[in-house]
Amino acid sequence: MLLETHKRSDSHKALLNRAAKLLPGGTLGMFGLPAELAIVPAYGRGAKLYDVDGNEYVDYLLGSGPLILGHAHPAVVEAVQQQAAKASTFYYVNEPALELAELITSAVPCAEKIRFCSSGNEATFFALRLARAHTGREKVLKFEGAFHGVHDYAALSVWPTADYSSPDPKVESAGIPKGASDTVMMAPFNDVETTAAIIEANHGDLSAVIVEPFQRSYPPRPGFLPFLRDITTKYGIDLIFDEVVTGFRFAWGGAQERYGVVPDLACFGKIIGGGYPLAAVAGRDEIMSQCDNSRKGSPGYVYMTGTLSGNPVAAAAGVATLKELRGKNLYARIHQSTARMKSGLQSMFADAGVVAQVTGEGGVLQVVFTDREIVNYQDIRSGDVSKALTFYGTASLNGLFLGVPDKIYISAVHTDEDIEIGLRAFRAGVEALVG
Ligand code: PMP
Repeated sequence: MLLETHKRSDSHKALLNRAAKLLPGGTLGMFGLPAELAIVPAYGRGAKLYDVDGNEYVDYLLGSGPLILGHAHPAVVEAVQQQAAKASTFYYVNEPALELAELITSAVPCAEKIRFCSSGNEATFFALRLARAHTGREKVLKFEGAFHGVHDYAALSVWPTADYSSPDPKVESAGIPKGASDTVMMAPFNDVETTAAIIEANHGDLSAVIVEPFQRSYPPRPGFLPFLRDITTKYGIDLIFDEVVTGFRFAWGGAQERYGVVPDLACFGKIIGGGYPLAAVAGRDEIMSQCDNSRKGSPGYVYMTGTLSGNPVAAAAGVATLKELRGKNLYARIHQSTARMKSGLQSMFADAGVVAQVTGEGGVLQVVFTDREIVNYQDIRSGDVSKALTFYGTASLNGLFLGVPDKIYISAVHTDEDIEIGLRAFRAGVEALVG
């Protein structure tokens, strides 16, 4: 049954048809919604999103993470308007970028120096290059199921379809040269024994271990991140935290503050650009200074640049976002709303006798239909995908904007009423499952 929200006008349908004609798969590449859920969003206010027909949704995707203050937050809009009226780009040092650099380096334990870029994809790509240059070694270790973007050293073993069998990664995109994929190894997240064995056997070749400290939607087991810190230190391997999602979300100092482990380098994106294209690599001075342009031409110089790196409009949006987060100490609110949604979902499944795990914290939740505790990618893979499609799809039809099925993002501006609307829509999803 289609609810009012998904009865699309002829002009709305025409937009969807244009997308199908112009764009591969009718999408911008991130994800596609099933035909009955496809909409074209037009504007947002706080946690509410409106499609081109003016239908209202509670947004539990939030741009896939950047919109921790919701859509069109007045402080962010004001900062962007002011900067856009002054200048859109300089291709040079500017005040908003400096202010953002100061905020990040003062908040994040590992961040002695910072270099901006435009996407998380670029940030992880550059971080790996910095680590290779720093250690003089070529290989990197990533974790099965971790997402670090889609460049040639990242689009590997993100969604393997078999059980873990070896450190050789699964190549998940055509067009990746063997020369790149041969330099990447993988290990199962949260598995100290297997990871230690791979590192012990390969430390002479390993430049970096790159990890999402909270991988996708599930936390590190106690001791896992300290183990990574100890073993990488022992062998002179750089430890890279991909904090593109967790940065400024889990705590002011990100996952490294939340879990008390300080990496050598960290990658940021999403929240630090306040919904505009901006990302960064930050870390130890000794490693970051390899990209100092005065070293150009000397051995060890790392080439790292971009036309819009440190763009002043995006930086102004980032500064406004971070100041709002810190000034109003919104973390308590985010954790509280997330806990409310999580426990509401858990009791809903328990009452209905539906076997499901609700994993996550800090504004990132995911529902997986499995009886396995979620500690790594294979636990996620054990989930029943068709149940997830029914559950998330029904919730969407009941007024939520969601990745189907994906993470549920909760922001500082979801009100108690938004959480109630969310739980009601998810309850419809559970009802669809129990029929
Ligand atoms: N790392 C992580 C952990 C991410 O979640 C993402 C994006 N979802 C990226 C890197 C890539 O960031 P971007 O999409 O900005 O290139």
